[in-house]
Order: sequence, then C-alpha cells, then structure tokens
Amino acid sequence: MGLFVRIWGIRTSIRVWHMDELKYQVDLLNAMNEKLSREEKMLRLICETSNSAFLYYNFADDKFQTVANWEHFFGFTVADARDLNRLYDCVEEQCVIPLREVLFIEQQKLQSQSIEVKLRDKHICVQVEVNVVYDEAENPTDKIVRFRDVTKLNAQNDELTYLAYYDVLTGLYNRNYFVRLMSDFVRKAQEENTTVAVMFMDFDDFRRINDGMGIIVGDELVQVFGQFLSELMGDHIVVSHFNGDVFCIGIYDPCGARSVETLYKTIRERLKRPFRLSGGQEIFITVSVGVAECPEAATSTLELINCAEIVMFKAKAMGKDKVLYYEGTILDEFLKNANIENQLKTAAFQQSFTMYYQPQFRTNDRKLRGVEALIRWKNDDGKMISPAVFIPIAEKSGTIVPIGAWVIEESLQAYAEWKRKYHYPLVMSLNISAIQYRQPDFIEQMLHLMEKYDVAPSEIELEITESVLIDDFTEVTEKLAVLRDIGIKISLDDFGTGYSSLSYLKGLPIDTLKIDKSFIDTVVTDENTRIITESIIYMVKKLGYETIAEGVETEEQYRYLNEIDCDNIQGYLLGRPMPSEKIESLLADMTA
Ligand code: C2E
Ligand code: CA
Ligand code: CA
Repeated sequence: MGLFVRIWGIRTSIRVWHMDELKYQVDLLNAMNEKLSREEKMLRLICETSNSAFLYYNFADDKFQTVANWEHFFGFTVADARDLNRLYDCVEEQCVIPLREVLFIEQQKLQSQSIEVKLRDKHICVQVEVNVVYDEAENPTDKIVRFRDVTKLNAQNDELTYLAYYDVLTGLYNRNYFVRLMSDFVRKAQEENTTVAVMFMDFDDFRRINDGMGIIVGDELVQVFGQFLSELMGDHIVVSHFNGDVFCIGIYDPCGARSVETLYKTIRERLKRPFRLSGGQEIFITVSVGVAECPEAATSTLELINCAEIVMFKAKAMGKDKVLYYEGTILDEFLKNANIENQLKTAAFQQSFTMYYQPQFRTNDRKLRGVEALIRWKNDDGKMISPAVFIPIAEKSGTIVPIGAWVIEESLQAYAEWKRKYHYPLVMSLNISAIQYRQPDFIEQMLHLMEKYDVAPSEIELEITESVLIDDFTEVTEKLAVLRDIGIKISLDDFGTGYSSLSYLKGLPIDTLKIDKSFIDTVVTDENTRIITESIIYMVKKLGYETIAEGVETEEQYRYLNEIDCDNIQGYLLGRPMPSEKIESLLADMTA
C-alpha cells in the first residue's frame, strides 16, 4: 500500500509496513511539513518586506501567480496571459512597448533584463526586472518578474545629482560642473574655430558686509545677486557660483547680445540699484571682473579660469568696481610676483639685503638733518629689485616681519657706528609697515635694539603711511602715542597721495610730515599744486609739525621750497640713497 503526499509539487511515496513504522512516517511527514511551512513563511516575509511585487510564471503549467506586495502596485491579479493587458493599461503610454518586450525576454533567449516604467495613476516609478530560468535543453522553465518602487531612490539620486551640479545657496551651477561645461565649450570652440570667454567676478569689500552685517545677510546678498545673474543664462551663456562672493560666467562665441561688454553693461546697470533683502535692508554693491578668452589667454579650461581670476585681482588692485581684460603683461607681473615671493622667503633668512641711506637736508643752510633708511635687495639672479615692488609682496606674505626686524637692527648698528665716529646730531628715519606695528612685541623690540646699540629715542624717527592709520586707526595711534611718550619721532610719509585732508591732520600723534614727490614734481609748473603745497606747509607749521619735501630733483624746486619755508628737503638733487660708507664721507664733510 502506498500513500501519496504532495508537498510543493514533490510527490512522495510512503510504504506502510506496520503501525510503528506508519507512526514514524507520519511524524516525519509532519516535521517536514512544518519545516516547509517555516521556509515558506520566511520566503513570504522576505518577499513582502522587499517592497516589491512578484509575478511568477511557470512555462510547463502556463500559469501566472502574483506574490508579495502586488496590491501596492496594481488593483488586480494576473492569472493568465490575458491579464497582462491590464498591466499595460496601468503604465504610461510610452512605456507599453518596452514593458511588453521585457516581459517576454525568453523570445530573445535572454536571461534577465530590467526597465523603468511610470505608473499612470499613481505617479510612481517602477523598476521591472525579469529573470528567466532555462533547463539543460535551453528551454525556459520559470519566469520571475519583479516590480520595485524606485520613486524615492530616484528622488535621492536626483538630489545627489543636483548637489553634484548645482550650488545649494544660489541654485546656479557649481564650480565643478561649470568647469565641465566650459571644457565642452572650449572643445567645441577649437573645432569650430571660435572663442570662449570667462568673466571672473568678485564682490568688492564683501568682508565689510559680512563683518558689519553678519554672514546671514552676506549669504542672502549672494543669493539675490545669484538670482539676478541667473537671468543672464542663455543658450551659449553659463553662470556659476564658485564660492563665497565669487561668480563666473562662461560665454561661447561671445558676440552681440552675448558679448562681455553687453553682459557687463547689464550687470553695471543693475548694480546702480540696491539689492533688497528680506530683513528690509537695501545694499549697494560693486564687483570687480577679470576677463580671459580662449585661445588668446589659454587653451585649457582651468588655465583660462585661472587667468580670468588673476585679471580680476589686477582689477581690484586698480581700484575695484571695474572690468579688466586679459593682457600678457598682467600674467607676467603675477608670475614675477609669485617668483619674487618665493625668493623673498629664502632671502629673508639668508639676509641677502643691504641698507642704503638717503640724506635729508635742512633747507635754509643745507646742513644734514638725518637719513632715511631704504632697503636694497639683489635677487638670486643678481638683479636689483626695487623695494616699491617687493615690500608690498613681503607685506602680503608676512615676510615683512623678519625683513623689517633686520632693517631696524642693521640701521641702528650703522647709526651707532656713525655716532661713535662723528658725534653729529642726526635723525635716523625708518620705514615701518602696518604689519610690523601690529606685532604685539613691536615696541619692546624697538626698545631692546635701542638699548643694544645705545641709540636715544630722540635720534629715531618712524615713518608711517596714511594707509596704516586708516586700516587700524585706534590700535596704531595708541602704539604711536606710547612711542612718542618715549621720545621717538613719528613722521607721516607720502602725504598727499592718500586720503589726506588737512583737517584730518589735526590731533594725529605725529611730529613730521613728508610731502610726497608727486607734489614736488609739479610744484614749479602747476599753479594749483603750488597753492595746495603752500597751504599744507602753512597749516602744518601752525600745528607744530616739521616738514620734509621728498623727491627734490632741481634747484628750482629747492629754491621755491626754501621760499615757502619748507623745513627740509630730500631728493636726488642733494643726495641719492647711498651705502653706509658714503654717509660717513658726508658726515666727515659736515664735521670737518
Ligand atoms: P618712500 O618711503 O617714499 O621712499 C622714498 C623713495 O623715493 C625711495 O625709493 C627713494 O629712493 C626715492 N627717491 C628719493 N628721492 C628721489 C628723487 O629725487 N627722485 C626720485 N625719482 N626718487 C627719489 P626706494 O628706495 O625705491 O623705496 C621705495 C619705497 O619702498 C619707499 O618709499 C618705501 O615705501 C619702501 N621701502 C624702502 N625701504 C623700506 C624698508 O626698509 N621698510 C619698509 N617697510 N618699506 C621700505
Ligand atoms: Ca619713507
Ligand atoms: Ca615717501
């Protein structure tokens, strides 16, 4: 006798011997059933929690079966091939044919394939993945179709894609994507023999807005300006927000309405009006723009953007609020400066500098009043580089601190030597940069060196420029007051070149005023300069300051300055900057 049991399609035959054995076989069967139902439960749970629906098709039975989350996707079940038509009705029209093809991949002898379809009513994206199992004779036996909701996943991917291409603050292209788009422009321009322009744009004095009004206001300003710039986007124009207050516009084949000139004009026009922020603030801004074109400035995208940036820096240095176009000289100057900066760093430690001293004479008797210490530098190639070139670079990189310390020590040492030899009452004028004044131990260092070389405070004069005062008025004037209390003289250098107004001179902690060479140059020929110079000297004398005219080159200038009672003169007429030995000869003459 035989007992047939069907468990998941497997036919099992149990031969019955006697009762014990029968019981044993029943227990075994129950145990197997239980194991199978556990496994079935597990598989069902896996299917259900997979957020997918499955359609199973058995080729032998020609039967369909729907499994797991079918209801999430469809309001009907698929029992046979005719029901598939209802499936096609559910998807958007353009998906019908691809869906039909993927559902019957066995016709192409394929094992698996997947496509994405959109469900018409539910507006969800579904990935349809079909797997077909073949037997040894390569006949299909089973087919499993998996429907997976990928709406969320796609949205996440979209967000990642967005972040990869766009800047969150402004919604403009980000730097990386801009570079990619520009690379396409550049490649295309090379093929079509045309040009690509980059406008590198930076707010002027953005730090002041950020510091003064807070970064939230700064961010909003960047945002609204970015919105305005986005309106300039077009077929051949891409706009990008790089970071902070930096924007870049790329133009393919710039001409006519999409020429740099036209775009800049539109921007300038907009900047005449303030930007209104959500807090009610109305802010005016100006921007500096550097322009470089491919192939003139560079043929690689990154170089092109770099060039435009360097040109923008130059536009800033030239007074901001302007557009500047690439010229080879701008790049040369930049590279030269970068090179100087590198050389300066080593020079500061090898101390490959020398000091020159330029005599200053009293106007009335042409007697030596003092000397101005002026640094000289021979670079690695043995070329003399002007301090007017390298001092600003040293100031930017901070190298001015060790260089400045060396200048003071070297000059005081020379002074001590002259004093010991000639006992001539002389003033040593030293040029001091803002960064040096800002060093917390500047005064201490000064005192230490004066003591070391036995130089009295009254024998020293420190020259400052107006920009030092403007940038850090309170901090610097406090320090100057301390230095003056000690007895050191303070001199205001290059007067007339900066913000100088006579009324502002009042109350400054200074002893001496140096009238800039630019005045002296035209003092004889230009009536207006004469009027100004005369009123400066008149006023300054009333305030009790000593005056020095700089850059006196002719007898005529000298005579005139003597007439209007300028106290001292300094210039090539009576003495160029010279090495210490030459000053010694002068001192020897004076004391003879
Ligand atoms: P400055 O302080 O205005 O120095 C005067 C500059 O005018 C010097 O140029 C001097 O050589 C030049 N000069 C003097 N008389 C005449 C003249 O009659 N005609 C003409 N054409 N030029 C004349 P130099 O030595 O090249 O210095 C340039 C600038 O570099 C200085 O301008 C000063 O700002 C800076 N500098 C020089 N040495 C030092 C230093 O040791 N420390 C700091 N911080 N700056 C320095
Ligand atoms: Ca000076
Ligand atoms: Ca000067």
